[in-house]
Amino acid sequence: MRTRYWERDTSLLAIEDVSRMPFKWAIGIESSKFFQEIRDREVLVGIKCQSCGRVYVPPRMVCGPCFVKLYDIVELGNEGVVKAVTLVNYPFIDPDTGTRRPVPYDYGYIQLDGADNLFSHVVRTKAGQSVEVGDRVRAVFASVKKGNVQDIAYFELADSK
Ligand SMILES: [Zn+2]
Repeated sequence: MRTRYWERDTSLLAIEDVSRMPFKWAIGIESSKFFQEIRDREVLVGIKCQSCGRVYVPPRMVCGPCFVKLYDIVELGNEGVVKAVTLVNYPFIDPDTGTRRPVPYDYGYIQLDGADNLFSHVVRTKAGQSVEVGDRVRAVFASVKKGNVQDIAYFELADSK
């Protein structure tokens, strides 16, 4: 009787490797407009549905409820109201930077002035401050912009508490 190779005393070996997989993908004309306006003018924009009037941020191609193509870019304020917030304590790898973001930090869902949906981002507070639902916050832009979400460095409290 023949012995199959996997029945012999064979241990599994592993090959260690570090892979590097740089890639790019098209983000679409609506997202491109969003990031260009931030990069070039420090202005947040949304897109308005001609059918229902909803304004979405960041801009998207289609209004889901109406299922119509969106065209109307509108300027929003760089401030908004915190609708939900959580304190992040888990130091996960930030997909935007590939590094661990120092914890803890606040992460908020913000209704920007003029928008109907929520925009999520880091909310940074100063020592002694805390952020709560209902607080007004404003975008703080990165000094060096690259045309991505990191161009909004964080949101900060708009009113001193
Ligand atoms: Zn609509």
